[in-house]
Amino acid sequence: MTVSGRFTLLTSLTAVCSAFILVITFAYQTFEQRKVLWSSVLEARIATDPLLPSTLHFRNPSLAIQHLNQLNSGFPLDWSMVLHVDGEILAVHPTGKEAVQSPLLERSGTNRLETLMAIQRVDNLEPGTHGKPKLGLSQPPLMLLVSVPVLSSIDPLRTDIGYNAYQARPLSNDLAGARYVNGYIEQGVFLGDFLFSMLGDLLPAVALILIIVLLTLFVIRVHARSLGAPLLHMARVAEAIDAEELPNRIELPPGYDENIVRITNVLNSMVDGLRQARTRLDVDRSLMGLRVDSTARKLDKAEAEIDKTRHQIHRVSYFDPVTGLANRRLMLEHMSLLIQIAARERRHLGIVLLDISDIRKIQEAKGRETADTVLRQLATRLARRVRESDVISHEPLAQDIARFDGDEFCVVMHGIYEADGAVAGAKRLLEELETPILVGGENITLKSCAGVAIAPIHARSPEDLVRAADVALSTARFQNNRQVALFDSDMDKRGSERFQLEADLRNADFDQEFYLVYQPQINPVSGDVVGMEALLRWRHPQRGEVPPSRFISIAEQTGQMTAIGSWVLRRACADFNAMCQVTPPPPRVSVNVSTAQFDERFVDFVKGTIEEYGLMPRQLGLELTESILVGSVDQAISHLKTLHEEVGIHISIDDFGTGYSSLAYLSRLPIDELKVDRSFVLAMESDPSAIQLTEAIVAIARKMHLSVIVEGVETAAQLALIKAMGVDGIQGYYFSKPLTLGDMGAFLENAGQI
Ligand code: C2E
Ligand code: MG
Ligand code: MG
Repeated sequence: MTVSGRFTLLTSLTAVCSAFILVITFAYQTFEQRKVLWSSVLEARIATDPLLPSTLHFRNPSLAIQHLNQLNSGFPLDWSMVLHVDGEILAVHPTGKEAVQSPLLERSGTNRLETLMAIQRVDNLEPGTHGKPKLGLSQPPLMLLVSVPVLSSIDPLRTDIGYNAYQARPLSNDLAGARYVNGYIEQGVFLGDFLFSMLGDLLPAVALILIIVLLTLFVIRVHARSLGAPLLHMARVAEAIDAEELPNRIELPPGYDENIVRITNVLNSMVDGLRQARTRLDVDRSLMGLRVDSTARKLDKAEAEIDKTRHQIHRVSYFDPVTGLANRRLMLEHMSLLIQIAARERRHLGIVLLDISDIRKIQEAKGRETADTVLRQLATRLARRVRESDVISHEPLAQDIARFDGDEFCVVMHGIYEADGAVAGAKRLLEELETPILVGGENITLKSCAGVAIAPIHARSPEDLVRAADVALSTARFQNNRQVALFDSDMDKRGSERFQLEADLRNADFDQEFYLVYQPQINPVSGDVVGMEALLRWRHPQRGEVPPSRFISIAEQTGQMTAIGSWVLRRACADFNAMCQVTPPPPRVSVNVSTAQFDERFVDFVKGTIEEYGLMPRQLGLELTESILVGSVDQAISHLKTLHEEVGIHISIDDFGTGYSSLAYLSRLPIDELKVDRSFVLAMESDPSAIQLTEAIVAIARKMHLSVIVEGVETAAQLALIKAMGVDGIQGYYFSKPLTLGDMGAFLENAGQI
C-alpha cells in the first residue's frame, strides 16, 4: 500500500471512530436528558394536579383512569398505572389481559418518598402493544420505568374525612407540608420505543456529524493525494537514482507543505548533481576515447617509425650504399647459414672473391662519382650472370653477391660438385667484368682476378672460407697469367697470413711492436675537442703496419684479446697522464673494448688502472659494441652498471646501428654515448633516407639523454649534413686521421683554430 493510501486509511478510521464516539455520546446525553425530562414532567404534573390525592384517597378507579390519561399525554408510553399506597391498583393503561396488575418497580422503606427510575426486564409485557412491531425476542424485553409518589398532607388511611372536607384543605399547605404518600404513578416504556422516540432529536445531529465526517474524509483524501503525489514521485526518483537511471526533476505546484518542498529540493539537487556527473562522465569518456584514439594513432605511427627505422638500419648496416649489394657483414652471416645447410646435405659450397684493382685508378683519375658508376655497372652485370648461371646458383638470392671493401666482390656458388666447376664459374664472372665498359665517353677494359675456396674442403667457417679465397686471390694477383686461383693447402702453408699473424701475435713484444694512435672527436659547432679515441697499431717487424681489422679478430679468436686489451688500456692511461704534463688534455680518452675481454676481471682491472695512472673516472671512456649483449645480457648490464654507476667511467656504444639489438636493449643499458657507425655517413650521399635515419638515431639518443658522436666524416658535405643534426662530436678524416701521441699534442694546441 502506498504511503498516501496508508495515510488516508488511518486518518479516515480516526475520523469514523471519532464520529462514532460523538454519536454515542450525543445519544447517551439525549437519552439522559429525555429520562430527566420525562420524570420531571411527570413529577410536575402530579404536583399540580389537586384532585389526584383525593382520587387516591377515596379509591375512585374511574377518576384514576382519567388522571392517568392526563398524566400520560405527550409521552409514547407502553404501560402506566395508578397505585394506592396500600398496593391497590386503581387504574392501568392499557387495560386488558396482558396488563400488569402489580407495580413493576419494587420500593423499600427507605425510598418511599423518592422518584424511582430504572431499566429492567419485564416478563409479562410485550412490545408492540401500541401497534409497534413485536420483535419476537427470546429474552424478556427491557423497559424503562419511572415511579413518582403522590403526596398529601392527609393520611391515606383516615376514614373520618369526607370528600368535600378533603377537597377544601388549603392546596398550598397541602403540598408544602405533605407528609403522607397516597400512592404512586408508574409509567413504563420499552427501551426500544424510548430510543426510537429519540430519533427525532438524534437524526439532525447524526446527519450533521456524518456530513462533517464526510467532509473530513474528503479533505483527508484531497490532502493525502497532494501529499502522496509528490511522495510517490520522490519514491520513483529515488528508485531511478538507485537503478542508475537519470530521472526528471520534480516540479511542485505552489502551495505545498514546506517539508515536502525541502525534500523535493534535496532530491532535485541530487538529480541535478547526477545529471552534471553524467555529463562530466560522458565528456570524460569521449575525451578519454579521443585520447585513446590519438595515443593509438601515435603508437601506430611510432611502431611504423620503428619498423621503418629498423628496416633502414638493416639496409644501411647490411648493404653496400653504392651498389645496393650485400656487404661483408651480411655475406658472412648468409654464408654461415649456407655452410650449415650444405654440410647437412653433404654438398659443397664455393665462394669467389673478385678483385678489380683498376677501380682505385679510376677513382684517382676520374673521381669518386665515376668510380661508383663503374662499380654499379659491374654489380649489375655480376647479378645478371649469377641469375643465368646454373653452376653458380640454382636458386640465386640477393645475398649471393656482395661487395666487400673497396674493389672486392664476393659471389656464392651453390651446387659445386668438383673444383673445376667452381673455377669455370669464376672465369665466367671474370669475363663479365672484363667486357669493356663505357666510362666518360671512352670504352675501358678492367683487369680483374679471382680467388676460389670451397667449403668444407678448404674451410668450415665463413671467415675461414673468405680468408682462404683471399689467400687464393693474392696468389692470383701475383701470378699474372693466372686470373683465377683455387685455394690449396700448400698455398695456405706458404702464405696464410692468418696463421702467420696468429703466431706472430703470440710472439709479439707488445711494447716494441704495438703503439697507439689517437683520433680527436670535435664538437662541430664550437670546434672544441670533446675527446679522443685510442686506436691500436701493430708495426710488424717483417710485414710493416698491420691494420687492426686484420689482427683484432685473430686475437679475439685465439684468446689473446685480454692481454692485448689490457696493454692498450694501460698505455692509453699512461699516454693521457703524460699528455696532461705538457698540454691541457681533452676531456677524456676512449679505449675500444672487445667483447672477448669484457668480464668481471676486466672491471677490476679498469678500476686498478685508472688509480695507478691517476685518471679521474670521467677522463676514461670505454667503447663497447652491442655484441657484448650476445651472451648473458644481465651479466653484461651488471658489469656496465659497476663501471658506469659505481666507478663513474664514460661508456659509449661503438658502431651503433650495426648490431641486432640496437633499439630493443638500448634503454636498459647504463651508458652515456652512442657512436654512429661510419656506414651511415657513407650511405648519406647516395641514399637520402640514411640522413633521416641518422636524424632518427640522434633523436632517440636525445630522448635517452645520451650524447652522440658520428664516425667517418670525411667531406665538407658530410660535415654540413651531420652538423645540422646537432650531434655532440664528430670523428673523421675531415678533422683528422688518427695521430701519434706527439702529433695529437700539436693538434690540441691548434685546436682553437678549427
Ligand atoms: P672503431 O672503434 O669504430 O674505430 C674507428 C675506426 O674508423 C678507426 O679505424 C678509424 O681510423 C676509422 N676512421 C675514423 N674516421 C674515419 C674516416 O673519416 N674515414 C675512414 N675511412 N675511416 C675512419 P681503425 O683504426 O682501422 O680501427 C678499426 C677498428 O678496429 C676500430 O673501429 C675498432 O673496432 C678496432 N680497434 C682499433 N683499436 C682497437 C683496440 O685497441 N682494441 C679493440 N678491441 N679494438 C680496436
Ligand atoms: Mg671505437
Ligand atoms: Mg666505430
